Amino acid sequence: MSEGVWAAPGRVNLIGEHTDYNDGFVMPFALPHTTVATAARRDDGLLRLHSASVGGGAVELRVADLTPGHGTRSWTDYPAGVVWALRDAGHEVGGADFHFESTVPTGAGLSSSAALEVVTALALNDLYELGLERWRMARLCQRAENVYVGAPTGIMDQTASACCTAGHALHLDTRDLSQRQIPFDLAALGLELLVVDTRVKHAHSDGEYGKRRAGCEAAAAQLGVAALRDISYEALPQALGRLTDPEIRALAKHIVTENHRVERVVSHLESGEVHAIGPILNEGHASLRDDFRISCPELDLVVDSSLAAGALGARMTGGGFGGSAIVLTDVSTKPTVTKSVLEAFAAASYRVPRIFSATPAPGATRLS
Ligand code: ADP
Ligand code: MG
Repeated sequence: MSEGVWAAPGRVNLIGEHTDYNDGFVMPFALPHTTVATAARRDDGLLRLHSASVGGGAVELRVADLTPGHGTRSWTDYPAGVVWALRDAGHEVGGADFHFESTVPTGAGLSSSAALEVVTALALNDLYELGLERWRMARLCQRAENVYVGAPTGIMDQTASACCTAGHALHLDTRDLSQRQIPFDLAALGLELLVVDTRVKHAHSDGEYGKRRAGCEAAAAQLGVAALRDISYEALPQALGRLTDPEIRALAKHIVTENHRVERVVSHLESGEVHAIGPILNEGHASLRDDFRISCPELDLVVDSSLAAGALGARMTGGGFGGSAIVLTDVSTKPTVTKSVLEAFAAASYRVPRIFSATPAPGATRLS
């Protein structure tokens, strides 16, 4: 098959934070921002990668030489990792030319890495006629990021980029990967969801992620369950009584209450009560700030300043320690909310945040 063009979006997570490595629930939706790949098959076994977002020329790698641990520690590890993961799973993928262009902000917690992986997988799936299902491509992309790139991420980002649909948030059970498309049509209700990219990333974030993950695993082990997903909201008080370490207890409390919040948001959205999710977003932020302890002053300021200006709800989203927050607001209140956030950041002498409105967009697709 000759050349084609494919696109895969970034994502924002509406609710369900740090639940994806606890076998729990997440609810991302796709952003209108995409990574676009123009790609063609080549039969000389070479993978030629070029990105408009990165300076310099194309990078050429031999497909047969791709091995985890021998990555270049550069952006090319993401697409090269996808080729490796496909081949390692027994799919006959050879060489290809890839040119990437992206409007997904990188490193802002909006999953530019998954967009890059998923667009690569989708293109190779067509170019080499692999016939893979979306969820399967997402799994292989996660494997590329975990094993080849070396980043211990859950399954949410890749599934969101591959499987979201326009006008919906994706309810994903990260244990069995079952999915439900939940209507999330903001415009019809006169609402907007703002993404506020704080443009900060505090340096220690990777180590802190590992600590949270280990703490959650320790909690599950002490409670005798496979994962914290297995503790129901009703059983939480009893479970907390059995955890002696206060830090581990707080981590478990966040995960169990967060899974419950996802279910509450789903039931409100399914009955068209979008306004009602505002307070749940606020509770989610408080839980991430006080129990999971992964917020930072910039994220807290987005939440506090937007709520003070009349936003319906706000919370940090993504891994934490920087990145982005989301704010749910009436269209009529949006200018006041935006102004309040910008003024608060200026008063605190923080970097000017990037604020944009996010409409639930389609997942990955072939453009031509
Ligand atoms: P996030 O996924 O939140 O944006 P990550 O740290 O997971 O942040 O991934 C960002 C990295 O992904 C970048 O540093 C870069 O290596 C790579 N990347 C993402 N998009 C592109 C792109 N269009 N071109 C080149 N590299 C990209
Ligand atoms: Mg990422």
